[in-house]
Parts: sequence; C-alpha cells; structure tokens
Amino acid sequence: MIVAIDGPSGAGKSTVSKEVARSLGFSCLDTGAMYRSVAWQALELGVSLDDAAALGDIARRYDIAFESVPGEPSPRAVSIGGVDVTRAIRTARIDRSVSKVAAVPAVREALVDQQRRIGAGGDYVVEGRDIGTVVFPNAEVKVFLTASNEERARRRVAQNAERGVGSTDYDEVLADIIRRDERDSSRASSPLAAADDAVRIDSTCYSAEEVVDMICDLARKAAR
Ligand code: C5P
Repeated sequence: MIVAIDGPSGAGKSTVSKEVARSLGFSCLDTGAMYRSVAWQALELGVSLDDAAALGDIARRYDIAFESVPGEPSPRAVSIGGVDVTRAIRTARIDRSVSKVAAVPAVREALVDQQRRIGAGGDYVVEGRDIGTVVFPNAEVKVFLTASNEERARRRVAQNAERGVGSTDYDEVLADIIRRDERDSSRASSPLAAADDAVRIDSTCYSAEEVVDMICDLARKAAR
C-alpha cells in the first residue's frame, strides 16, 4: 500500500509520516531528501543552478541511497554518489537552492522513476509535493497536509534546533518557507498541488498525534 502525504514545507510531513509508518509497520520514503541530495551534488560540483541539462545529468548519473535500520521506518542515512549527506542536505544553503533544482523537468523525471521503483517494493508512506498527483496517482491513501505559515516556520525552527542543523532564525525560516512554497507551487513541472481525491488536513490546530491517528484510520479503512 502507498500512503501519499503531500504539502508545503514545514507542514509536519516528516514527523507525521514517520509515526504513521511506525504505527502501520510501513517504511518511509522522503522524496524531498532526494531533491536536496541533487542540489547538494550540484553545489559541490560548482554546477550553475540555471544549467538544466547539467542538473538533469546529475540526477540521472549519481546514485542516491537510503541506509535503513531494521525495525525503523525512517532510514538512518542518505548518500549521493557514495557520500553521506544526511546532515549536509539540511543546511540553509540547501533550503535556498533546492526548489530551483526541483523545478527542472529532467531532474524530476529521473527522481520520479527512482521513487516509483522504491515504492513498488512494498508498503510505503511517501512524503513530497507531487506524490498523489504524479508519482503515485493510484495511491490507496492521499493526504494533503497544510498549516499556517507562522506555525510551519515555528515547527521548522524547532526541528532544525533539534537536529542541530539549518537555520534557527524564525524570520529567515519564515522567509525561506514562503519563497519555496511560491517556487514549488508556480513551477510548470508537477507543481505542489493537492490531488482531487486527497483528504486535506490543516494541522495548525491539531497535535501531531491527532494527525497521525486520522491518517492511520484512513489507511485501515482503505485496507478493508
Ligand atoms: O520536503 P522538503 O522540504 O525536504 O523538500 C525540499 C524541496 O524539494 C521542496 O521545497 C521542493 O522544491 C522539492 N520537492 C519536490 N517534490 C517532491 C519533494 C520535494 O519538488 N516530491
């Protein structure tokens, strides 16, 4: 079964996906980590973020690998081209660059292929921006998770502080979230959008546990 969780940055997708996966005994696929890894590789190679052909090449040629831990829904590490980038992809520098890379159709094609291959191998909670619309349009459960801009910025600051990586400056994080939403929603190639058949959940007024319960209920009903 595929549980697709889409939504803008900081809506709580990662936290919720992990707990839903834990509760259902599924694995998590964080597609944002894949776009972040390509952005990291481009910056590492000094490739211009305006060079669509070179960015597409990177997405096709460099292997992105998740290192999973038995019994844990989320992988312990992510690497690109054999280099561990688990922490490096969470920096403010990558936050600023990733949506440019993700707007390149050739990058999306290469990564969507990989995402479908991974998802075909089992039960996954897949989080991203285009999972219910493009990557897995037949997903058994589709959720579009949102929250107010301010709440999303507060959560992202708390998450960055906990991880010890990324900006913890509220104004900087809020500005980044708004800029990325704008880019992600307005790009021509699979923009951030709710699928027509997605269940919309505004998490501003719910705890993570409440949202997890709602999504697990949807998955259990879909499995019947
Ligand atoms: O989810 P996260 O914030 O880590 O995603 C980073 C960026 O990757 C997003 O801002 C978006 O530009 C891109 N992305 C995407 N499609 C996905 C997942 C992420 O375009 N399915």
